[in-house]
Amino acid sequence: MNKTNMILQNNLARVEEEIQASCDRVDKPRQSVTMIAVTKTVSSEIAEQLLELGITKFGESRPQELWKKKEALSSKDIHWHMIGHLQTNKIDKTMPLVELIHSVDRLRLINALESFGQSQGLTIQALLEVNASREANKHGFTPEELPSLIDQFNDLQHVSIQGLMTMAAFEEDIEKCRPTFQLLRQLRDDLQSSFSEQHSLTELSMGMSNDYPIAIEEGATWIRIGSALFEGLIG
Ligand SMILES: *Cc1c(COP(=O)(O)O)cnc(C)c1O
Repeated sequence: MNKTNMILQNNLARVEEEIQASCDRVDKPRQSVTMIAVTKTVSSEIAEQLLELGITKFGESRPQELWKKKEALSSKDIHWHMIGHLQTNKIDKTMPLVELIHSVDRLRLINALESFGQSQGLTIQALLEVNASREANKHGFTPEELPSLIDQFNDLQHVSIQGLMTMAAFEEDIEKCRPTFQLLRQLRDDLQSSFSEQHSLTELSMGMSNDYPIAIEEGATWIRIGSALFEGLIG
């Protein structure tokens, strides 16, 4: 076994242990949360080694990087997730490659996804990104504007909104991330019944390397983990 493989295996075991402990603290089954390995800082070769360790859901925040890795690993059975800002002119090339887009951060994008879905005769699976930490440098809908947009979401026929996504601010004391995750869950609980049947709103994509234990406690169904998996291999 090579060194990279050993480091990956150790990192993965540590993260897995932490996920299990978080689930245990709130009496949730381990299967209630799925990890996406965010491979944006590593090569396709390292991503491939992670795949060999049994991880099959990968996320990328930049379309060009997603295209590149998808091509390099085209023979592999990987489920790709788009987790970053997507320009509308990159929809055609990106969406056919991904299982779920977590980062629908504006109406213009969702309308463009609707058109694309219509032209292709398919339904796009999406999460709405919410700027629940209210940081000026973050993308996403504000918690306040979402309720007023529900009629527009319910008019969509080729986009299915499966839930909400957010990114907490970085905090040394990760307890300080909890209100952000609570806000996202509360928003989902408040809005769920107003959405039409096409939109399940069952998913909460929240939690990254720094804060996933808290996100899991607050109901995350997807966590997006990068640096914790690749510690010792990058930088
Ligand atoms: C990079 C990134 C992650 C992973 O962040 P880490 O702190 O490396 O775990 C998760 N979500 C999004 C949207 C990202 O861009």
